[in-house]
Amino acid sequence: MQTFPIFLALHDRPVLVVGGGEPAARKVELLLSAGARVSLIADTVVGEIAQLIAEARISWAGRSFDDGDLSGMALAIVATDDEALAARVSHAAQQRSLPVNVVDRPRLSSFIMPAIVDRAPITIAISTGGAAPALARRIRAEIERALPAAIGRLARFAEIFRAQVRRTLESPRDRRRFWDRVFAGRTGELALAGDEIAARRELIRLLDSTRNENTPAGMVHLVGAGPGDPDLLTMKAHRLLQRADVIVYDRLVSPEVLAMARRDAERIFVGKRRADHGSTQQEINQRLVSLARAGNSVVRLKGGDPLVFGRGGEEIEALVRAGIAVEVVPGITAALGCAASAAIPLTHRDHAQACVFVTGQLKDGTVALDWPMLARPRQTVVVYMGAETLPIIAARLIEHGLPSSTPVALIENGTTNQERRVVGTLATIEQQARRADLEGPTLCMIGEVIGLALSRDPEFRFVSRIGL
Ligand code: SAH
Repeated sequence: MQTFPIFLALHDRPVLVVGGGEPAARKVELLLSAGARVSLIADTVVGEIAQLIAEARISWAGRSFDDGDLSGMALAIVATDDEALAARVSHAAQQRSLPVNVVDRPRLSSFIMPAIVDRAPITIAISTGGAAPALARRIRAEIERALPAAIGRLARFAEIFRAQVRRTLESPRDRRRFWDRVFAGRTGELALAGDEIAARRELIRLLDSTRNENTPAGMVHLVGAGPGDPDLLTMKAHRLLQRADVIVYDRLVSPEVLAMARRDAERIFVGKRRADHGSTQQEINQRLVSLARAGNSVVRLKGGDPLVFGRGGEEIEALVRAGIAVEVVPGITAALGCAASAAIPLTHRDHAQACVFVTGQLKDGTVALDWPMLARPRQTVVVYMGAETLPIIAARLIEHGLPSSTPVALIENGTTNQERRVVGTLATIEQQARRADLEGPTLCMIGEVIGLALSRDPEFRFVSRIGL
């Protein structure tokens, strides 16, 4: 985070504005709407400001700036074309540790002014850390469009009942569930529509019934987190992440995906170490059971799809055996994410009539795969967890008849900003992989379709993510 966002209480606090043109007028207007007492320094002022002065809504010293003007101020905002003056005010303010903003001059500012969506009492502030103010304005426009204008009314309505709900429902979890129901249900609709009497009646009814409910039974949602790019989450995964009490995740889940979850959800990391795989999986199963038994809505977040090489099957069994409700939400598995990112067709009319997903992990010290089946021509083979056993896999495929010139692609951290690709043939890939020193999760794709992607784009640079 480049800057630290806070909301400043300025009611009845003195603020200095230097400048008398249009930009200064915009800032004065905002400051007044936050209840600040504005003192203005400027030689000349535009009509709008002159009007405010005439109405005594701001005070104006019709003279030039003096360092003493800063004393006792809560903030200083500079909106003038006079560069030397701007630098002087900024310097003097920063010497006093007084927060100062110089309009459009981030270097002279100790804080920046965000783009604002004002739905009082709801305020949304957007910053790009000074990188692209125009983008911040665009984001603001999108939020403005998505938020009903009356959302502020809903917040004021909720405020009336806040203390009563706090007294009635003791646990924070019950209170959060209650408010979720209020905002997502009929009560919220009525309040938004301005029918406050009906909304109040509905809220009281809901509060009564919530108080009399027993702790609801918990459940576990096995949710696919996709290969890394948070835009590849399903809408359902996103919704569940926003509602979960607890999120249980492992190493493959990207920080960007985790950031989509409700801020105050409990997060439990259960990254598995390879050596003690079995016992740890059992511990994870146990943990899921006890979290659900305590009444939590648990999201078990798994990289890619939960049922593709994810041991999701074992977790389902343990939960069902313990009598706990389970829901599975699919995710985009690494093979599909990586193929899309590099625009590799997994099947192709002429080159691949089948596509096989296999694990390259060792079992009892060897890679126990059906080699004759995998070495068949005209199919694409995708190997999960195959980075370490790549030399064995390449050698066996050649032994069983695949040409050593068969193209191979290794994709590391597919779909994320750290995606790297290495491409070669069954004969060369081992050495290339060693040189590239791949450390993140890596997928191995083998077959003629890789050659197709290469001939289209010899640099193999295709990226499907176009950005915002
Ligand atoms: N359930 C997951 C797979 C878990 S097995 C899924 O459906 O994708 C772990 C293996 O998945 C890794 O060793 C790697 O081969 C592959 N993998 C997962 N995410 C990946 C990514 N972003 N890029 C490349 N490979 C990935």
